[in-house]
Amino acid sequence: MTGLCMLYCRRDHTRVLWLGPIHAPDSIGNLYGCGQCIAELHHMVHEQLRRKDLGSLPDRGSRPHLF
Ligand SMILES: [Zn+2]
Repeated sequence: MTGLCMLYCRRDHTRVLWLGPIHAPDSIGNLYGCGQCIAELHHMVHEQLRRKDLGSLPDRGSRPHLF
């Protein structure tokens, strides 16, 4: 679909993919991102897992808190 990238580039009218529900403090919405930003997000997740494997980050549990 075409819409607003809600990740890093914030471009509108671009091809985006639904990434899942997002839990804001007072509501639940839907998160969309473009291919370029999703690739960057994947890179950061892999980097986080790599660092976690090295024991440099505390385990904050499995529930994501984006805001
Ligand atoms: Zn983007």
